[in-house]
Amino acid sequence: MTSRALAQDDPAVSSQVQALRILLGSGSVQTIDAQTFIYEGRRYRGTAAVLPETGQVVSTVPVEQYLYSVVSREMPRSWPAGSLQAQAILARTYVLQRSNPNRGYDLVPSEADQVYTGVDAEAPQTTAAVDATAGQALRFGNGFASIAYSSCCGGHTESSADAWGGKPLPYLSGVACTYCKDSSWYRWTQTIGTDRLRAALQAQGMNPGDLLQVTLDAPDASGRPRFWTFAGTMGTARMKASDVRRLVGTRLLPSLLVRKVDLDSATLTANVDGAGLGHGVGFCQWGARGLAKTGATAAAILAFYFPGTNVGTL
Ligand SMILES: [Zn+2]
Repeated sequence: MTSRALAQDDPAVSSQVQALRILLGSGSVQTIDAQTFIYEGRRYRGTAAVLPETGQVVSTVPVEQYLYSVVSREMPRSWPAGSLQAQAILARTYVLQRSNPNRGYDLVPSEADQVYTGVDAEAPQTTAAVDATAGQALRFGNGFASIAYSSCCGGHTESSADAWGGKPLPYLSGVACTYCKDSSWYRWTQTIGTDRLRAALQAQGMNPGDLLQVTLDAPDASGRPRFWTFAGTMGTARMKASDVRRLVGTRLLPSLLVRKVDLDSATLTANVDGAGLGHGVGFCQWGARGLAKTGATAAAILAFYFPGTNVGTL
C-alpha cells in the first residue's frame, strides 16, 4: 500500500474550478434568486436556462455546489469523515472528466452520470467532506485517473479489464480488501429457482435439460469465476458468468464473486454462496468506511484502492 500525502505547495484553487452544465429535462423552472431556482418542485443551486434547440432546461452550477448534493446521494452521511472525503474526491474527479464544451451540457442528473437532486439532498456531513477536499481530484501521471466504485468488493476488488475489457490500467487491477466485512453483503447466500437458470440458458440457445450440478471455473485474478458450467440430464452447457448475472438479474446475483452453487432437487432451487455487492472495480465503499474507522485519511484510502495514483489539486 502506498500513500502519498498532498503536496504542500499545491495551491487551493477551488475558485478556478469551472461550472458544470446539468441537463435537467423539459420541466418547468421557477427562479428564486440569483443563486437558486426550483425545477419540477425541487430546489437547485445555480442558474437555469432553456436550450433553444430542444427546449430542455440546463442548469449551470459551480462544481463544488453540485458535489454537495451528489456526495450525499452516493454514501450515507453517518459514515466516517475520511470515507465521505474520499467519495467527494472521486465524485469531483468523475465530473472533471465529463466536461464537454462541444455539447450543450456536461452531465445528466441520473445514474448514467451521478444522481443529482438539488439542495434538499444535502447534509452537513457530506457538505463538510466536499469543503474539506475542495478542488482535490485523483490524478495519475499528468492527468486524472479513471475512477470506478461499488458498494462492497467482498474481499478483493476486480480489475477493470476483467470486468469491462479494454486496456488494463495499473491502478485498476484489483487489491485484496477485507475492510468491507461490516457490509451485510460481504458474504451472502441467494436462492434462485432453477427455472430462472434454465431460462437464462435458453436465452443463449442452450438446453442441458433438468439441472443436476453447477460448477464454477476459470477464476480471474480477483477470484471471480469467469464461467458457470451446467450439467443436466441432456448434456452440459458453459456460460460466461457475466451473462449469467445479466440474465438472472443483479438483484438475485449481487456480484460475480460467487464461491459455490448447490442445487436442491427437492425444491428446484440453487443456493448460491457469494461475496460483495456490485461490480467491485476500484473504490470499495464499505471498505473505505472500514479503513476510515482505523484512522486512514481520504488520501490513504484512495491510494489503497487506486495504487500509484495521488490526490492533487487542479
Ligand atoms: Zn472491499
